[in-house]
Amino acid sequence: MSDSVINSFMDQPVERLQNIGPKRGVALATVGIGTIGDLFYYFPRRYLDRSTVVKISQLQENQEVTVVAKVLRFGIKKGRRNRFLLICTDGKSILTCVWFSKLTYWLRIFKVGEWLALSGKVTFYGGFQMTHPEFDRLGDDAEGEFVNTGKIIPMYPSNEKLTKVGLDSRGFRRVIRSLLKSYAAKVQEDIPDEIIERLKLMPISQALQNIHFPEDFAMLSQAQRRLKFDELFFMELMIAFRKQQFRSARGGISFEKVGDRVRTLVDKLPFELTDAQKKVLHEIRADMKSGRSMNRLLQGDVGSGKTIVALITMLIAVENGYQAALMAPTEILAEQHFITTHHLLEEIGVKTVLLVGGQNKKTRQAVLESVVKGEADIIIGTHALIQESVDFSNLGVVIIDEQHRFGVMQRATLRQKGLNPDVLVMTATPIPRTLSMTVYGDLDVSVLDELPAGRVPIKTYWRGQKQRSKIYHFVREKVAEGAQTYIVFPLVEETEKSDLKAATDSYEKMRSGFFADFKLGLLHGRMKSDEKDAVMASFKRGEIQILISTTVIEVGVDVPNATIMLVEHAERFGLTQLHQLRGRVGRGSKQSYCILVAYDPITAEARRRLDTMVETIDGFRIAEVDLELRGPGEYFGTKQHGLPDLKIADVVKDLNILKAARTEAFRLAQDDPQLLEHKDIGVRHYFVKNYRDKFDLAWVG
Ligand code: ADP
Ligand code: MG
Repeated sequence: MSDSVINSFMDQPVERLQNIGPKRGVALATVGIGTIGDLFYYFPRRYLDRSTVVKISQLQENQEVTVVAKVLRFGIKKGRRNRFLLICTDGKSILTCVWFSKLTYWLRIFKVGEWLALSGKVTFYGGFQMTHPEFDRLGDDAEGEFVNTGKIIPMYPSNEKLTKVGLDSRGFRRVIRSLLKSYAAKVQEDIPDEIIERLKLMPISQALQNIHFPEDFAMLSQAQRRLKFDELFFMELMIAFRKQQFRSARGGISFEKVGDRVRTLVDKLPFELTDAQKKVLHEIRADMKSGRSMNRLLQGDVGSGKTIVALITMLIAVENGYQAALMAPTEILAEQHFITTHHLLEEIGVKTVLLVGGQNKKTRQAVLESVVKGEADIIIGTHALIQESVDFSNLGVVIIDEQHRFGVMQRATLRQKGLNPDVLVMTATPIPRTLSMTVYGDLDVSVLDELPAGRVPIKTYWRGQKQRSKIYHFVREKVAEGAQTYIVFPLVEETEKSDLKAATDSYEKMRSGFFADFKLGLLHGRMKSDEKDAVMASFKRGEIQILISTTVIEVGVDVPNATIMLVEHAERFGLTQLHQLRGRVGRGSKQSYCILVAYDPITAEARRRLDTMVETIDGFRIAEVDLELRGPGEYFGTKQHGLPDLKIADVVKDLNILKAARTEAFRLAQDDPQLLEHKDIGVRHYFVKNYRDKFDLAWVG
């Protein structure tokens, strides 16, 4: 790397620093620090100053606090349970800290006379105590340095390996202080000046200085704002380029006509399309007609009628001489889509084939052949579609149902089976603002915001285990009146085994016991494809009255006559899952019921989920609560979406910074699509360096 490249010292190995030797290098690698740049971006986890410190005499029981105190003495105390005691003082009062494990280890850690910052929950046993507090060593002269000057002290995360080589929080302070002394002033801007000016961002060099050793809290907050902005800006820049690449006019298919058979199909449907469906089809049609590739997300709550939109989209492609593929996350769903499509389109001369994992060799071979020869017009399947052996003759449109079940890579693989085909991804999970700017940031969005007419709102209840038998009596009554019922058992462990057991055992018990006079069916993921198909078909025909199932029916399944959804161990399900399960009923014009049976212990969070389900059927509201409960990391599955890990920014809490970052990134991507005007400054360098693997830039060089 030449010296002319901006901030090239950031890429140097961290061992180049004077106070980092090979041993420390190895230890630093455990927290992902390999370069000088990594160390710059190793941010404190908390800050300590006088305003956050409480005097021992003012402590209260059960408070979570930080105390600054000097070590008086320590040692192991024998008793019913041996423990390590550390006695400290802040000059006036005494605080005792207790550890019950690694007793001899602590003997080596502390030093009489040293000042510590101790954080934890306060208890009172004849004096104030903290058990297993977090602590940070402040040194011998903290009284002068900290207590009097009111400085802000950064506290760094560390681990045992780091501590062994002197890199506890205090060690980090030393190393980073000297790093800043030598290099902070040299750090050059990595985003264009006009953005910094427009948003009044703190200069990068000052921000790095202040994130580690803030002059005051106002400066710290400015530093945080700047660094969060950078992180979000580069992420949005990547999203902007992804979107641009997709939209590039080159090679997108222009589907000239709608075609006569589309009208035939629409006329033949047993219902009128909703206004929302018509609106969305217009948006899709406009994309398809244009020469650029469609990259659209169709969002519509469970039961809003996404399938027919997908079907019409595929038929337009077929009318223009192309093939269309539809990928679904489960075999059951793929099979269902296949049946619907086949049923509607066969008589108008469209050939639909099904490709799933569980097919026998001969069938599979025949299907593959019809696809590669172009005899098959519409290909429906599971992820079996993206296997290497699958070749299309002329793939024009790709549709992905329940897209949140797939990763970006899987979507990309299917897309690559054609020459810039149009892509429509569908989901029932509504998208909070933050998601539409990140995970789905490169997609155009269409929303089905209307349910088909005549739907009766589902009645939802949640009940404890004591009421279980009452509930089952209710189900009996309803089934006798003709209601078809799902009874769902959760996936208990990550393996399917135990989940299978719960469902199978209950099936056997119910079949010979409580529900002996009804027709029961069993469905789980371990069954062979044709067994599953047979059970689903029989449920659909109304022959099976009660379907005992695992979560294989969670998404997509459409049996309008089913009106009861009973979920066992509902406390174990996530909100989105519960909402999806509930979406299996309420698809016709009859009153439907969703009954959630929860078993002790029910955590506060589980209770919140169950209450939310009872309170609302609005998928958007449910998604918001879900996001709040699970936090963005888990909710997004950022890695699966090919997005970077965020170190300092939080896409939910920092929504405003995210918005600004998105605006600026999209503007830059538009003004300077190859970052050529910015070739010499950091933005291009940084982008190429950090996003190369996440984004295949034709112009990277
Ligand atoms: P989802 O959006 O959950 O995938 P589906 O496409 O499975 O929903 O549709 C749910 C049910 O509504 C299906 O039985 C479908 O036939 C029916 N449906 C779809 N569109 C309409 C409409 N415009 N009017 C009445 N019923 C409709
Ligand atoms: Mg669906």
